[in-house]
Amino acid sequence: MNLSKSQDLLGILRSTFGFSRFRANQEAVCMAAIEGRDLLLVMPTGAGKSLCYQLPAIALGGTALVISPLIALMEDQVAKLAALGLRVARIHSGLDRAASRQACVDYLQGNLQFLFIAPERLRVPGFGEMLAKRRPALIAIDEAHCISQWGHDFRPDYRMLGQYLPALRPAPVLALTATATPTVQEDILAQLGMAKPERFIHGFRRENIAIEVVEVPVPQRPEAVCGLLADKARRPAIVYASSRKLAETLAAELSRTVSAAAYHAGLDAETRERVQAAFQSGALEVVVATIAFGMGIDKADIRTVIHAGLPATLEGYYQEIGRAGRDGAQSRTFLMHSYADQRTHDFFLNRDYPPVGNLEQVFKTLGEDPQAEGELRENSKLDEEEFDKALEKLEIHGGAKVDFGGYVTRGRTGWKKTYAVQAQHRAEQLGKVLRFTESSECRMAALVRHFGDVEDAGRVCGVCDVCDPAGAVLRLFRRPSAAERDAVQAIADELRAVDYKAAGTLQKGIDPTGRLGRSGFDGLLDAMTRAGLIEIEEAEYEKDGEVRRFRKVRLTAAGLELRRTTPVELLIADGLVEEFGRAARASRAPKKAAAKTGSRDKAAAGPVRPSAAAEALVAQLREWRAGEAKRLRVPAYVILHDRTLNAVAQARPGNPRQLKEIEGIGEAKVEKFGAAILELCRER
Ligand code: ADP
Ligand code: MG
Ligand code: ZN
Repeated sequence: MNLSKSQDLLGILRSTFGFSRFRANQEAVCMAAIEGRDLLLVMPTGAGKSLCYQLPAIALGGTALVISPLIALMEDQVAKLAALGLRVARIHSGLDRAASRQACVDYLQGNLQFLFIAPERLRVPGFGEMLAKRRPALIAIDEAHCISQWGHDFRPDYRMLGQYLPALRPAPVLALTATATPTVQEDILAQLGMAKPERFIHGFRRENIAIEVVEVPVPQRPEAVCGLLADKARRPAIVYASSRKLAETLAAELSRTVSAAAYHAGLDAETRERVQAAFQSGALEVVVATIAFGMGIDKADIRTVIHAGLPATLEGYYQEIGRAGRDGAQSRTFLMHSYADQRTHDFFLNRDYPPVGNLEQVFKTLGEDPQAEGELRENSKLDEEEFDKALEKLEIHGGAKVDFGGYVTRGRTGWKKTYAVQAQHRAEQLGKVLRFTESSECRMAALVRHFGDVEDAGRVCGVCDVCDPAGAVLRLFRRPSAAERDAVQAIADELRAVDYKAAGTLQKGIDPTGRLGRSGFDGLLDAMTRAGLIEIEEAEYEKDGEVRRFRKVRLTAAGLELRRTTPVELLIADGLVEEFGRAARASRAPKKAAAKTGSRDKAAAGPVRPSAAAEALVAQLREWRAGEAKRLRVPAYVILHDRTLNAVAQARPGNPRQLKEIEGIGEAKVEKFGAAILELCRER
C-alpha cells in the first residue's frame, strides 16, 4: 500500500469526517477507488459503506456523482455531508424545478463535491448529456443490488444505468450494497460494464451471535417465547412476529411477566414512537414487532432476537438477527418454524405477486390518454385490492405510469418479462429460507455463504444449534435408541461401498417398510452429520425441463470407520426443553417413556443446571472450549459436550484420574485436554 496516500486518506478521515480510525476494510476500498479501480463493495448495513466513496471523492477532487434509489436515503446522506461543510446538491422528484436547475448549474460550474441523483432522472431527455459535459471524478451507485432483477428491490430504472456510464468515464464506478448473492454480484458487474472490477465482500460473520433454528408448532410458540425471555439474562429482546395479531397476542402474554409491547404498522405513529423510545431507553425490555420495527433502532445491548415465524427472505432475517449483540457480548437468536409457516408464506406470495393475467387485464385498459385511477378501478373486473396490487406491480415494471394527480397512462410492453422473473425470484427466496432451516450446515457459515463471501464460509461458528447441539437452549437432544443406533449403522454400511447415495434411495435401502418415516430418517441423518459421520450436499438435476433437487449423502473418513462397537456421540433432536413449552412436554412424554423402556441407553441429553458455585467455572470452561474449537476448527461439542462440561464444573477434578471418572471424558480427552481443564479447575 502506498504509504503517503494512505496517510492522506487518514488525514481526511480525521479532519473532514472527524473519525479517528478506519473501520474494517474501509481503507483498502478507498485506496482502490483513488487508484481509479472499478469496484463492488458488499458489506452489511451499518458497516460504513458510504465513507468508502465519500472519502476517495474528496481525495480525488472534482465532483462525485452518487446514484441513490430512495429519496429518504439521499436526503439523509446529503444532510450529513452538508453538516460536514461539504458542497453538495441533489436532484430528485421531491424538489421543485428551480432547485433542480440550480443544482445543474452548480454541477456544470464545478461548484459541487457531491451531486446525488435518482436513477429515473437519467430518463429525462438531455439529462445524461448534461452530466457528460463535465465528467465526474467518481461515480458511486448506492444500493446497487437494485440493478439486478435477481435482487430483492429490483428497479428497472437502475437497469438502464449501464448505458449512461460510458459517456461519464473514465471515472471509477463504485457499486455498493449490503446484499448480493454471487448471482446478483455477476449481474451488477455485467450490467454496469465494469472494467476489471475489484470485489470487496466482507463482514457478514458475526462472532458473538449463536443461532438456533427450531421446529416449534404454532400453538406452542407463545409459551416458548415467554419461557425463553423469562430469564433476565436474555433481555432486552426483540421478537419478530409474522402478523399484527400474533404480535399483539405475544406482547400481551409476555406482559404478564416482563415489560413488553407490540409494534406494528397498525398502530398510530405516536404509539410507535413511544414504544421505540421506551425500548431504546430500557424502560421496555421486549418489543414484539412485525418487520417494520428495527430500522431506527440503535441499541447495543440486545441479547436475544426471536423469530416467532418463518422469515420471507434470508436478507431480512440476517438484518433482524444482526440487531442482537452490537455491544459485542454473546447473544442468541431463535428461529421458530414449522410446516404451517410455509402455507402462510404461499398465501402472502400469491397476494403480493398476483397472476400475470391480473396485470394484463389492467394493462389492456390503459392508453395514451391519462385516465383517473379511481375510474379504472371502478370499471375493472378485479376487486379493489387486486386492482391496486396489479397496478402497483405494473407501475414498478414500467407497464403503467401514474402521475401525482392519480392519472394513469400506458407504459412499455416489456413489463411482463421482468415481473415474471421477479415473482419467480421471490418464490425462490422463500425456498432458500426453507433450505436454511432444513440444512445441517453451520448456520453462520450458511448465511455468510448466502451473502456472497464464499471465502469465509468454510469456517464453522461453533455455537449454533448445528455446531453445538448440546449447547442449544430451546431444543432438546437425546441419545439414540438401540434401534436407531442400528439404523445409523445400516446407513454407514450402505454408504461404505459407494461414493454417495441420494437420500431417498438410501432411505428405501435401509428402511424398506418405511417404519422410520421421512422425519425419523432425516433426524438420523442430522445426528450423523452432527457427529461428523456423513456429509450432505444439496444437488440438482434436470428432468423434463424441470430442475429437481436431491441430497447427496456421503461418508466422511470418520464414518468409514464406524462399526457397531464404535463409541459415537449421536444426538437426536427431541422436541423443546420442557420449561419452554408445556404443550411440548405433553406431546413428547409417551415417546420418552418408550425410548426408556425400549433401550439400554443413558439418560436423554437434556440441559443440566449447574450449582451457583460451579457457574463461574462453567463460564471459564466454555470460553476455553470456544477457543479450542476455533483453533481445531471443529464444533464445540466435539471438544466437550455441555453435559460433560457441566459435570466437570460440578466435580472440579483435582487430577487426571478424577477427571477420567467423569462421564464423557475418556483416555483421549484426558490426554488432549486434561492439562488445560485441570488448570481451569484449580481453585484460585
Ligand atoms: P452502510 O451504508 O454500510 O449501511 P453507513 O455508511 O451509513 O453504513 O455508515 C453507518 C454509520 O457508521 C454512519 O453513522 C457513519 O457515520 C459511521 N461510520 C462510518 N465509518 C466510520 C468510521 N471509520 N469511524 C466511525 N464511524 C464510522
Ligand atoms: Mg448505505
Ligand atoms: Zn455454527
